[in-house]
Amino acid sequence: MSIETKKLHSWLSTKGKERRKSASEAAKILLASYREHKEWLQIIPIELHRLASTLNTRIEEFDKSSGEALLIPVRGGFSIYVKSQPNYSRLRTSIAHELAHILFYNVDGEEPTRIKTPDEKEERFCFDVARRILAPDWHLKAIGVEDSHNLNFIFEAMTETLALSREVAAQLILQDYCLVKGVGGRWIKKGESYILQRGKAYASPSLEKSERKELHEQCRKFIESGAKPDSNFQIVDKKERTGDAFFVVLGKFV
Ligand SMILES: [Zn+2]
Repeated sequence: MSIETKKLHSWLSTKGKERRKSASEAAKILLASYREHKEWLQIIPIELHRLASTLNTRIEEFDKSSGEALLIPVRGGFSIYVKSQPNYSRLRTSIAHELAHILFYNVDGEEPTRIKTPDEKEERFCFDVARRILAPDWHLKAIGVEDSHNLNFIFEAMTETLALSREVAAQLILQDYCLVKGVGGRWIKKGESYILQRGKAYASPSLEKSERKELHEQCRKFIESGAKPDSNFQIVDKKERTGDAFFVVLGKFV
């Protein structure tokens, strides 16, 4: 399955639409053998142990490292060491991310060897690929997301049926599959008001900066006073258990 070095570098340099295409292509390569076993097609979400085994990879639990998961080449394949943790969707994201790193190894020899030195670009690409592994297009079709025009249904299907975190679901909806045009993110209480948490804000790539700002304003008003967003827009708001944070996605189908 080793990918040509040239191709890897071209994947890493992509942006926007081209990036979405490369991440999808990379995920399809990783999922190719998994899909060949037809009986596993029916299992939703993706069974990560099964997928790992088609990539000659074993998932093992450990508690030592500072990171959440680690991919180590071994004779004949890889081991992924993953820290046990109660957040199931986060655990799945970590494993899918490590599986994406396999693309950056030459696997033709006895022990996999790195094709290139790991860097920030590769790291970001592996997150993009991980989301596609966890939510491939054929699953979106199977659970009715592809044909739905109900944002709440889509968000629920992604977080419940596909066991994705709210953050990953928002990125898939807004940035990867561009199902709606809008914004999403985690809002936290500060004093009497709510602010969008840094690093947990997502938006459709086609939005202008001013449009993004305007939509954020609508989200804030909705949380603070229940003010309805503009017509054509649908809003999903998920309160956190503690009650002082909300996860909101606001968007319209285009
Ligand atoms: Zn990584």
